[in-house]
Amino acid sequence: MYKALPMVAALAVCAVAAVPTHAATLTTKGTGWQLTTQLGVTSLSPGRQYTITFATSAMKARYTPYLTAAVSQVKAAGLKLAIGGVEAVNPAKCGPVGHIQFTELYRPLGRPGYSQGMPCPYPPKGVGTGGIVAIDSEYWDGTWPMPAYKLRNTLVHEPLHALGLDHPNLDLNKDGKTADYECAANPTGETPVMCSPNGGYRTATGMGRLTGFDVNGLKALLANARAQGIK
Ligand SMILES: [Zn+2]
Repeated sequence: MYKALPMVAALAVCAVAAVPTHAATLTTKGTGWQLTTQLGVTSLSPGRQYTITFATSAMKARYTPYLTAAVSQVKAAGLKLAIGGVEAVNPAKCGPVGHIQFTELYRPLGRPGYSQGMPCPYPPKGVGTGGIVAIDSEYWDGTWPMPAYKLRNTLVHEPLHALGLDHPNLDLNKDGKTADYECAANPTGETPVMCSPNGGYRTATGMGRLTGFDVNGLKALLANARAQGIK
């Protein structure tokens, strides 16, 4: 009889998880971060492996050094994220579940100097399944020179879109417009790396890293999954 008890307890736990008595409360924005609710992404599975892949081996070689520090931070925040290999990328179509696919296009948004990152829209239960990153090829052909910090921060900003972070811009000065660069800032002046059109640290050691705002957004995506009972 004693041996039967743990199973009864386990079944009871399963029943609670499978039949929630009320909908989970999800938090979709906070100071300096905002989730991509307009595309139905509210959560990231703490148990799922997420992998950054590349359309060519040359792109893998090019982007990996720019992504390494940010990937370490994302992992420290609790998301299983790794830099993976090379696979076919169709920018118009989502890849395998959990993949954040990098490719390059000429002006993917039709605007000079702008790159694109987006999550696969409306994933089941709002749990992000990865997405597409299309970096503007102008960054590499000499036609769109940028300071190093801006390039580095942009290359991190776009995959964070694919994970489900949106721009946290707000009308802070109450002039009726949510403007470019109008984002919460920390005491030393940095805006989130997710600020539109770009933000983040400008120092040699800080550029290409997430700010605390961005880390809080990632943690919210994971916390939402846990609140939904998703592992
Ligand atoms: Zn953006």
